[in-house]
Amino acid sequence: MSGSSIAIVGGGAGGIFAALAACGMAKRESLPNTVHLFERNPRLGIKILISGGGKCNITHAGPVETMLHEGFPRVLEQRFLRSAMYRYTNDDVLALLARHHLECYTRENGRVFPKSGRAEHVLEVLEKELHSEGVILHTHSRIESTAFVGNECLLTCQGKTFAARALILATGGTSYSKTGTTGDGIHYAAELGHSIVPLRAALAPIYLKQPPTQATIGISFRDAELYVTRTDAPSPAQKILARARGDILLTHRGLSGPAVLGISNEAAKRMESGPISIEVNLLGIAEDALRERLIGEQQARPQQQVSRWLEEMLPNSFVPVVLESANIPKERRWNALTREERQRIGVTLLRYPFGAVSEIPLERGEVTSGGVALDEVDPKTMMSRLRPGLFFAGEMLDLAGEIGGYNLQAAYSTGWIAGEEAVRFLSGSGGLRGHFTGLLA
Ligand SMILES: Cc1cc2nc3c(=O)[nH]c(=O)nc-3n(C[C@H](O)[C@H](O)[C@H](O)COP(=O)(O)OP(=O)(O)OC[C@H]3O[C@@H](n4cnc5c(N)ncnc54)[C@H](O)[C@@H]3O)c2cc1C
Repeated sequence: MSGSSIAIVGGGAGGIFAALAACGMAKRESLPNTVHLFERNPRLGIKILISGGGKCNITHAGPVETMLHEGFPRVLEQRFLRSAMYRYTNDDVLALLARHHLECYTRENGRVFPKSGRAEHVLEVLEKELHSEGVILHTHSRIESTAFVGNECLLTCQGKTFAARALILATGGTSYSKTGTTGDGIHYAAELGHSIVPLRAALAPIYLKQPPTQATIGISFRDAELYVTRTDAPSPAQKILARARGDILLTHRGLSGPAVLGISNEAAKRMESGPISIEVNLLGIAEDALRERLIGEQQARPQQQVSRWLEEMLPNSFVPVVLESANIPKERRWNALTREERQRIGVTLLRYPFGAVSEIPLERGEVTSGGVALDEVDPKTMMSRLRPGLFFAGEMLDLAGEIGGYNLQAAYSTGWIAGEEAVRFLSGSGGLRGHFTGLLA
């Protein structure tokens, strides 16, 4: 390794864009370009490769302001990201990809994917850019510690010490830890004095104490409504803690699908103060509308079995489950159905009890919520308010966007700002103008 001025730890979306921006900025300012990117894996960008089920939901289309509001649930996150997302936008990312002739398309819901449907192609473009910008790549290089001594940051890697004048930490969250994200950077940030907001699962499945039966695994409910409830709430009115609408999938351990992933962070938070359960409005329709439908069916098709109607409304393998839960005999016809039985079917459809939640696994979350506290980082520069020369990018910050390309965009935008501002910081402090500290040992 040769001398260095900017060290970036973590070669995911945040680190890659930080490196590209730093090199671009150094060139524009006619400064020597010494940007080192350290990645512990043999290859950069593993999470890009597995994103969107291998198809990579690159970003979200539309105005930045809409992205901020729809993509980030907390006002704190929206405020923090505003400057970065305006400075390096979704259009900027797509323009970069277009320069390499990577065609993208936007789905009806605004999610943008490569036309080829292969995340690999996105990563290849980024690798080419890094190469042509002259980023010095260190793969297989896990940074084991960081410390600031005077104006310098000392990094250790496989028994060697490396000195830099600016440090960008971009090591991601802690979920999918096999991809390399074990939370190193969050740990280093804490050692360097930063407050860490507790880590929680986000965009994660929900595991149930009583998982779905074998016969129902794999079925899904379209546009259902999911309720997170307090298991031991004294009254039904106090029961509902959070709700989400969308598709729900039954898995061998519990529930997944967009509605579940979307509510998982809130549910994980609620679970810290007491046991929670899940109930689902299986058809996603309001109580009055359901009552009318049930009465209408009873009048229109008195000879038909209730199960036939349920089969039209629900996945077939879930019909016996509903009948059993409502305590209705399988063969019951509409003309024999009592008022109480009809009500029991209604209640079961409106609030099917999936029961107590056993775990919302942080490891299985598409993102980690929590991380470096946002109020200790300048949103205009991504520089630490506590330690000049220390910058942050991506998921290791206390950010957790919705599904839809928002999380990658947050990583590109914060990375870009951190990269440019690290160069500005160094040029202001005389760092890049000929200051090479190099390898110390
Ligand atoms: C299954 C899955 C699917 C997803 N799909 C999408 C999607 O389609 N669209 C979307 O917007 N978001 C998606 N996300 C979320 C998105 O991938 C992340 O939010 C984003 O990649 C975060 O980027 P990052 O650079 O902050 O962190 P990461 O991409 O996690 O990169 C951090 C890097 O740091 C490296 N590292 C860690 N510690 C060290 C160390 N000590 N030394 C050196 N290197 C280190 C890691 O190996 C890793 O490569 C998905 C996530 C998952 C898990």
